[in-house]
Amino acid sequence: MKRLQDRITLVTGSSSGIGAAVAKCMAAEGAKVIVNYARSSKGAEAVVAEIKAEGGEAIAIQADVSQEDQVQSMFAQIFEHYGTIDVLVNNAGLQKDANLVDMTLEQWNQVIGVNLTGQFLCSREAVKEFKRRGVIPAQSCSAGNIICMSSVHEVIPWAGHCNYAASKGGVMLLMKSMAQELAPDKIRINSIAPGAIKTPINTDAWDTPAAEADLLKLIPYGRVGIPEDIGKAAVWLASDESEYVQGTTIFVDGGMTLYPGFATGG
Ligand code: NAD
Repeated sequence: MKRLQDRITLVTGSSSGIGAAVAKCMAAEGAKVIVNYARSSKGAEAVVAEIKAEGGEAIAIQADVSQEDQVQSMFAQIFEHYGTIDVLVNNAGLQKDANLVDMTLEQWNQVIGVNLTGQFLCSREAVKEFKRRGVIPAQSCSAGNIICMSSVHEVIPWAGHCNYAASKGGVMLLMKSMAQELAPDKIRINSIAPGAIKTPINTDAWDTPAAEADLLKLIPYGRVGIPEDIGKAAVWLASDESEYVQGTTIFVDGGMTLYPGFATGG
């Protein structure tokens, strides 16, 4: 038996970057994966094709996670196709960067809408189904599993990105509050907080040698992360191996949250 054999797994925003890697790592462990995408189906179809080429199972479904009606329609399609859901990875996210005084309300609302409200909307639909179905012991010891994609910026302030940092700080307490509320139902909820991972969201931070050298000053472990670093952690958190882990954030950041400036200063 693979670690996630036949688990119905939705990964939001999985047509690129970390979400795509999580989808592929989960499928390699036997999960049946729903590859959610916001607009263009091209990237999502490519991820589905890659999973199928490796002998896995996946389908692509469109939904903007910040829109309640689209989230509800996505879950209805999942239930029609697979009958239930076992694992939700709240991965979709974006940045709309600006200094505070230049930040428009639209930039603020868009980031909070996708990064925070999107996680609430998807979690609510998944939890309704987890509660309805309960534990199926032959499948898993939990009644369902949610992984929230947070960021080191749930604890590290980030000048010029206050909408993003606020959204991830919000994800931290959304995750913990849901985990506290739903633990008695055997519903597991945790977060992964990636450090700097090479994906389209932060290309400017690593795509030239000078930029990468600058970034490495913030990473004690001495390399920038890759999406598979997060995929592997997500597989473990979704599996029964981590059954007793509840309401916590796993930092996968090469030590970025260890205040690297204090290694030589302070
Ligand atoms: P990415 O841009 O490749 O992935 C983000 C995905 O979210 C994209 O596929 C995008 O289409 C999707 N998305 C955006 N808006 C959406 C919406 N309204 N509905 C559905 N999907 C939507 O970047 P990534 O780095 O892979 O980011 C994935 C997650 O990881 C995000 O939550 C991000 O905040 C988080 N994260 C990334 C890093 C990093 O260094 N790359 C670090 C910390 C946290």
